[in-house]
Amino acid sequence: MQIADLIRRAGRQFGSAPALIDGDRVVSFAEFDELTDRLGNALVARGLEPGDRVAVLMPNGIDGVVVYYALAKAGLVRVPLNVRETPHEHAYKIDDSQARALVYAGEPSAQVEIMISADELPGLIADASADVCDIRRDQDAPFRLAYTGGTTGRPKAVVLTTRSELAEVANFLVDLLPNLRPDSVMLHAAPITHGSGAFFLPHLVKGAANVVVQKFSPQAFLAAAEKYRATSTFMVPTMIAMLLEEPATATADLSLERLCYGGAPIATSVLQRGIDVLGPVFAQLYGQAEAPLAITCLQPWEHTPDRLTAAGKPYTFVEVQIRDTEGNVLSNGEVGEVLTRGPHTMNRYWRRPEATAETIEPDGWLHTGDIGHWDADGYLHLLDRRHDVIISGGFNVYPREVEDALLSHPAVVEAAVVGIPDEKWGERVAAAVVTRFAAEPEEILGFCADRLAGFKRPRALEIWPAIPTSPVGKSLRREVRDRMVAASA
Ligand code: AMP
Repeated sequence: MQIADLIRRAGRQFGSAPALIDGDRVVSFAEFDELTDRLGNALVARGLEPGDRVAVLMPNGIDGVVVYYALAKAGLVRVPLNVRETPHEHAYKIDDSQARALVYAGEPSAQVEIMISADELPGLIADASADVCDIRRDQDAPFRLAYTGGTTGRPKAVVLTTRSELAEVANFLVDLLPNLRPDSVMLHAAPITHGSGAFFLPHLVKGAANVVVQKFSPQAFLAAAEKYRATSTFMVPTMIAMLLEEPATATADLSLERLCYGGAPIATSVLQRGIDVLGPVFAQLYGQAEAPLAITCLQPWEHTPDRLTAAGKPYTFVEVQIRDTEGNVLSNGEVGEVLTRGPHTMNRYWRRPEATAETIEPDGWLHTGDIGHWDADGYLHLLDRRHDVIISGGFNVYPREVEDALLSHPAVVEAAVVGIPDEKWGERVAAAVVTRFAAEPEEILGFCADRLAGFKRPRALEIWPAIPTSPVGKSLRREVRDRMVAASA
């Protein structure tokens, strides 16, 4: 089976029902099948060959989705670029992926052999053959390249295959979204280039509409969720925090059945508030680019007050283990690295054999770089990224736990905790926070004192106007650390 088969079948089964909605523009399932055939044929006519990489720089919208799945039909490898990144970052990815073509809206970030402006797309589609475009590839051949966030080092591309894509769809349908129906509606408020994109196919195959919002704001989200009676959505924790800051959220007339969230740790205070305001609709997913959005999930009914710090249980068809540094499999309560295995995991890092060998064991187990433990009921608890753990006076401090304590202070909206080199302790804990009203650093630190052991308490706390974030809204601790180290030098 190919991804294109899912699109073709949905076209036949759901015909004139709305598949994609963006403002006034509505594309039916049959039209989506035809548009992607036509554009696929146009790409082949431009000389692109199976396996060629095509970088795509398009904002959230119908055209971007059509391009993505036209590439699938033409056997081409999608390299999504994030519109919030700089031309310099795009150029790096275009070069690293050896893209032969670039499809772009606005200004192109680099020159490659085949340049296609978004303005040309309607003409290309209109002039192209409407024959079925069906270039079939091996299930283990690259389907798309996903660049990892780049929170450490230079971004690496994760190679995902048709096999991993199909498994990702299956994982979602079995565990996260088991109740999709033709009247379900997915609201894409986050960039489709990232996490939200994984929700497109599961909805499409069940005949549900995908609604696209160009740019997230709490107001735009609420307006679209009410108008289209959205039943599912995906947000990173920062977006949930923003939504809860908006007073209109509490009185909005929503039909959400699943508010899926993940991609970064969520503060328990935000999650509890979310459940209080929006109801028992929260479903957490823990995954990463290397194991797309499926390692563990925490179901809505598992969001009990004592369990809000958990990342959930393994997806049905995903294996998860915790191992120590010698590779021994650990039991409940013991802290180690999370490893995972399943058909959805990456095939390799693109052109990085050493990084691949460090990350994937010969028997398929993938090192996630996350530190965690199991509790007695089989729930995974994540402590932090292996590289972010602070070692102060020989004790491990997990920044996330300290950030959680800071975020429980009523004034604190965002927090980033890092380790600063210290002659005596090796590293000392330092924090940057953003506040919603004026508060003194000493007062915030005093508030956290009974929640944190002495060695975990920040030695310094700064109030910043904003915490630097990656284009997908994850806080960039490395940048916070660099700034603090520079300031203390
Ligand atoms: P990325 O590959 O950029 O999607 O980042 C994946 C990383 O984000 C994971 O390895 C985790 O460190 C973190 N992450 C993803 N989902 C969660 C979650 N539900 N809870 C805590 N951390 C998460």
